[in-house]
Amino acid sequence: MSAICPVCNGLEREAACCLACGTLAEDCGRFSDWLGPYAPYREQDDIAMTDGFPGAAQGVCTHTFSCPACGWEFQQAIALVEVPADGVLRPI
Ligand SMILES: [Zn+2]
Ligand SMILES: [Zn+2]
Repeated sequence: MSAICPVCNGLEREAACCLACGTLAEDCGRFSDWLGPYAPYREQDDIAMTDGFPGAAQGVCTHTFSCPACGWEFQQAIALVEVPADGVLRPI
């Protein structure tokens, strides 16, 4: 079994409201994808504690959200889910 991010894998969309104005913010992808030239090529398992943000080792995938109304950007941790042999996803 392995833990995956349901948002990165297209299983669900995370809804997050802008902390500044409350508008529904857009998911801009994994926070680690924004780090350094090599970040996009790293596997999710490698991103634990990147620049102080929690990663796979903490059971979360940190995503960056951007508010379309005021431009505020913030990070939100998405809980990873286990992929068991029967294929039924369960929160961990
Ligand atoms: Zn993710
Ligand atoms: Zn906003």
